[in-house]
Amino acid sequence: MAIELPPLPYAKNALEPHISERTLDFHYGKHHQGYVTKTNKAIAGTKLDDANLEEIIAAADGDDQGLFNNAAQVWNHTFYWNSMAPNGGGAPSGDIASAIGDTFGGYDSFKEAFAAAGAGRFGSGWTWLIAKDGKLDVINTLNADTPLTDQSATPLLTMDVWEHAYYLDYQNGRGTYIDAILDNLVNWDFANANLKSA
Ligand code: MN
Repeated sequence: MAIELPPLPYAKNALEPHISERTLDFHYGKHHQGYVTKTNKAIAGTKLDDANLEEIIAAADGDDQGLFNNAAQVWNHTFYWNSMAPNGGGAPSGDIASAIGDTFGGYDSFKEAFAAAGAGRFGSGWTWLIAKDGKLDVINTLNADTPLTDQSATPLLTMDVWEHAYYLDYQNGRGTYIDAILDNLVNWDFANANLKSA
């Protein structure tokens, strides 16, 4: 049973002008697809052949770095596409708004912390909003690392800060990309749904 590339939750041009169709052509069509293909190649004919993605990530963690990297990147990217929506961004509503108020003191402080984390991730990785121990936190992970492997953490949102996520649209302007996501694309409905399961 091969891992499949999930469909994008919107059209490839739906995030324009903030993230271009050209970026999604490469990022979803080449990078994300590439992680799926490499994961399937690695599990073919092994005991993980029939495992689901979460099981593959858990089995590979600390045991097979190559497989872990590809499988975790499949999961991280699917979570990333769902963390964005056309006409998203700005201050949230619902339970996530209260939780952000409790942890960060308000949306502006959260935004500052999330943007600073993304800008400060040297090299390649991910910035996450997670729920852990009854409160929220902003964390960075390196390369393919994912909070999915932390049993006590529930990922709520993520932002890809690998250069391939923004280079075609913003070149080296990671900060501009981060602001574009926060102001225009964050899918707070997704964060609220994830918070319910935390
Ligand atoms: Mn990526």
